[in-house]
Amino acid sequence: MTKFHQFDAVIVGAGGAGLMAALHASKGCNTAVISKLYPTRSHTGAAQGGIAAALNNMGDGDSWEFHMFDTVKGGDYLADQDSAEILAKDAIDAIIELEHMGLPFDRTPDGRIDQRRFGGHTANFGERLVMRSCKAADRTGHMILQTLYQQCIKQKVRFFDEFFMVDLLMNGNTCVGCVAIEIATGEVHVFHSKALMIASGGFGKIFKVTSNAVSLTGDPVAAVYRRGLPLEDMEFFQFHPTGIYKLGILLSEAARGEGSVLINGKGERFMEQYAPSVKDLAPRDLISRSIMSEIRAGRGIDGKDYVYMDFRPETINKFKSGPGGKEVTREHLEKSLPEIIEFVRVYMGIDPMEHPVPIQPTAHYAMGGIPTDNEARVLDANEKVIPGLYSAGECACVSVHGANRLGTNSLVDLVVFGRRGGKEMVEYAKKTDFTALPKNSEAQVVAELESLRNRVRKDPKDGERVSTLRTAMQDTMQLNVSVYRTAESMAKAVADLAELKARYANVKIDDSGKIFNTDLLEAFELGCMLDLAECVARTALARQESRGGHAREDFPNRDDKKWLKHSLIWRNDGASNASLVPHGKYQFGERPVRLGRFEPKERKY
Ligand SMILES: Cc1cc2nc3c(=O)[nH]c(=O)nc-3n(C[C@H](O)[C@H](O)[C@H](O)COP(=O)(O)OP(=O)(O)OC[C@H]3O[C@@H](n4cnc5c(N)ncnc54)[C@H](O)[C@@H]3O)c2cc1C
Repeated sequence: MTKFHQFDAVIVGAGGAGLMAALHASKGCNTAVISKLYPTRSHTGAAQGGIAAALNNMGDGDSWEFHMFDTVKGGDYLADQDSAEILAKDAIDAIIELEHMGLPFDRTPDGRIDQRRFGGHTANFGERLVMRSCKAADRTGHMILQTLYQQCIKQKVRFFDEFFMVDLLMNGNTCVGCVAIEIATGEVHVFHSKALMIASGGFGKIFKVTSNAVSLTGDPVAAVYRRGLPLEDMEFFQFHPTGIYKLGILLSEAARGEGSVLINGKGERFMEQYAPSVKDLAPRDLISRSIMSEIRAGRGIDGKDYVYMDFRPETINKFKSGPGGKEVTREHLEKSLPEIIEFVRVYMGIDPMEHPVPIQPTAHYAMGGIPTDNEARVLDANEKVIPGLYSAGECACVSVHGANRLGTNSLVDLVVFGRRGGKEMVEYAKKTDFTALPKNSEAQVVAELESLRNRVRKDPKDGERVSTLRTAMQDTMQLNVSVYRTAESMAKAVADLAELKARYANVKIDDSGKIFNTDLLEAFELGCMLDLAECVARTALARQESRGGHAREDFPNRDDKKWLKHSLIWRNDGASNASLVPHGKYQFGERPVRLGRFEPKERKY
């Protein structure tokens, strides 16, 4: 039996973006949050490094204009500049708001919020590195998530924990809610809303080596795509330079903010060659490419496919790479990077205070996603607002990050645009009545899930296994739509994904039960990831230039004449339902970049 709920505002996702939106929405209308994870397990809790805001607490001459400039330049001039301006300006006030909620930021000796350096964040338009990242040791995301969750509880936001959204509900062009499965019981729930926000985070699990949590499969983003709505800039996927070798677990840029350096097989600090002024604190796209270039030139450690990140105090002091060139001590590093140091000890079995750490680039962040305006309202392919539908956080594309996001700019994006979206949802809910739910609106996705649930394997060899197809998808994406890309490699990925989609039709599962059927949900997630992986590979193949996180060996230069524009991709097979999108049934579109203050220039660091 389907259960029905009605709320003015429904938010899918309980990460930083969802909770900030929920907090503000709940101040003006009745608000629910649906999350497939228990809220405080959301990936925001894994963010270590910090959250950017030009508070200028360290007296190094910071201002929001510099933050805006760094964001635009870091994004290789693809960011919409009005949005980047909002990000940089609103960041300051959003941090103060978090502080007043009780977030335990690190403090300077005189009691202000402490700040540290991060890649690509500079003063005076690129002149020198600046300390802009506010932090709580290297547990900043954890503190944000806990603080916001407590505030939402206080505000009596209604939480539907471990509810899995499977479809978006539309009445004509208006969004009227969503369908979710209660994981514990398998029951179907329909949420009827005036305003629905998708805040479901990233989808890094389409790649093999990733910093992303297992849950980051992008199902709600796929739901939007499956309803025929466009996704924007999907080709731009960030590889973070410092993932633990083979595991992909992130060692935050905070380590380099504190002075760690990258070292090749010849013992050289190679970033001096690639980014003479900011060196190891260049933006991520540039560092990931530099690492790959070193490895390809045979200068990986012992000629292998990794390099070292060295954060031993003696190395930092030798290169004078600590903040302000000052000496660092082991005690200081242990205090400012406790989680990162512990990760290395636990996952690699080595002590980073005694030994350099093997690292390689890891798939980290989706710059693209659901297109929105500055109020988090979702836009269609003609840039018209879709009434009732909102998106914020990593799954949204405002776009503030353009072709490459700077470190610490995601957490600030969550709170700035989550807050704007939450407030806008209240305004909308106040002036609008509920639009009717179409009859049996949940029937199609329910039938689809039922058919999947009944496809039970009879013997070990029967049907395709989810894990086999998922591994094959992750392998082809990792190999072919990676830090460096060519037409050939991306065409191979597209062909592989076509084959995997065909094989998906014969997927079988082992558990036909209703209670905690994660077997079924993983099969459903795989379908969503195949759609999103196809969007990434297709749009990457189409963009014939190199910009930010999209580096093509066959088109090595940025081409502003032809490609200074956002890409759009949407489904066009005529159907409007929740099923896997048939391979190749898609259409491309584009929209202009909103420039403004800063003319695109060559990007030097
Ligand atoms: C290891 C790591 C470290 C990072 N460090 C930093 C940093 O220091 N600074 C920085 O700025 N950025 C950092 N980032 C990036 C940043 O943390 C993320 O981009 C950001 O936290 C995403 O937040 P979000 O609110 O969009 O989504 P998330 O926090 O990922 O939350 C997603 C939510 O959506 C829900 N959800 C997903 N699918 C469904 C579904 N089908 N049904 C119901 N609910 C669903 C989940 O339950 C979850 O609650 C880091 C990322 C990683 C992976």
